[in-house]
Amino acid sequence: MLIGEGAFAVLVRARALEAQGRDVVHMEIGEPDFQTSPHVIEAGKRALDAGYTKYGPTQGDPELREAIAEYISTTRGISADESQVVVTPGGKPNLFYTMLGLLGPGDEALYPNPGFPMYESMIGCAGAKPVPIPLVEDRGFSIDLDYFRKSLTDRTKLVILNSPQNPTGGTIPAEDIRAIAEMVRDRDLYVLSDEIYSEIVFGDKPTSISTMPGMADKTIILDGFSKAHRMTGWRIGYSVYPKALVSMICMLQVNCASCTASFTQRAAIEALRGPQDDVRAMVEEFARRSAFITDALNSLPGFRCAKPGGAFYAFPNITGTGIGSNELAERLLQEAGVACLGGDAFGEFGEGYLRFSYATALDQIEVAIERIRKMLTAGS
Ligand code: PLP
Repeated sequence: MLIGEGAFAVLVRARALEAQGRDVVHMEIGEPDFQTSPHVIEAGKRALDAGYTKYGPTQGDPELREAIAEYISTTRGISADESQVVVTPGGKPNLFYTMLGLLGPGDEALYPNPGFPMYESMIGCAGAKPVPIPLVEDRGFSIDLDYFRKSLTDRTKLVILNSPQNPTGGTIPAEDIRAIAEMVRDRDLYVLSDEIYSEIVFGDKPTSISTMPGMADKTIILDGFSKAHRMTGWRIGYSVYPKALVSMICMLQVNCASCTASFTQRAAIEALRGPQDDVRAMVEEFARRSAFITDALNSLPGFRCAKPGGAFYAFPNITGTGIGSNELAERLLQEAGVACLGGDAFGEFGEGYLRFSYATALDQIEVAIERIRKMLTAGS
């Protein structure tokens, strides 16, 4: 069964309330509140004028693939080749292609829970069994390594990792990445490492499992331009695949999308090779908001919030309120005008939490916190 994305559903309902004249603070959608950099927009316009309005190569614009290989090699400290890069309309199609290409009935895939809902959805869509691996709050939302070890079987064909994470904002420390690599290295499986938030970190850069001995040929690195470069609506992402998988992935893409929009890819070259000041400024602003919202959520009755290591999500534990995740998110929307998501929208181990996206101006976050406080303390 396919699973939808709660963020889009709540956004529609919040907009409906606004249409009735209600004021809503939007903390539901996972999209930076910053515009694409002007120099990237200019590059897109120039590309349109220059005639990049036609179909392009299925695997992606060769110059962009080169820029991506260079970027991944530098940032991850591995040697990625442009022949391994497949450019796609957003990062999401890589989940589709990987699951459809690698999984089938009888196979199992391990995925983080709470996690990006498309993981479970796409594993199931490919006919395989989704095996949830719990994230542990008091381990900074890293995975439960014992549970992980016990969940590996001869049927495990894929392991999904995500760091920094949606929805928790947690990161997986290097020692856990090393332990996971040791557990999977000699197994007949691939790892899909979703690194789409890799630029948005507030401390040490997370370690990519692709850097661990023996893992380069087993790891698919998923990344893209939606988050760091604020290009959600341009629909552009990519993955770096082990060489053995590239032709199968291109076959899936030619069947599905043919190729990624040509002018968008030219803009993406500028995003990677042009000035990075806007990316840095955005990450600094997210760091400021992250510190503010963590303290603010911790000051609410019944809330307990771990410090996020990256991305732009806070994931407070709300069991102290005595209200379930879904019910509390619903009441916050209807009674307080604050749109957020129940943790259960990200899987069963998300129950007892809420997800707040702080891709919203600081003054709006302050308004949201005071509205929540007022609702929680009303009548007490
Ligand atoms: N992976 C994670 C963990 C995400 O949170 C998202 C978007 O929210 C994506 C992948 C896909 O992003 P896009 O398709 O916009 O590149």
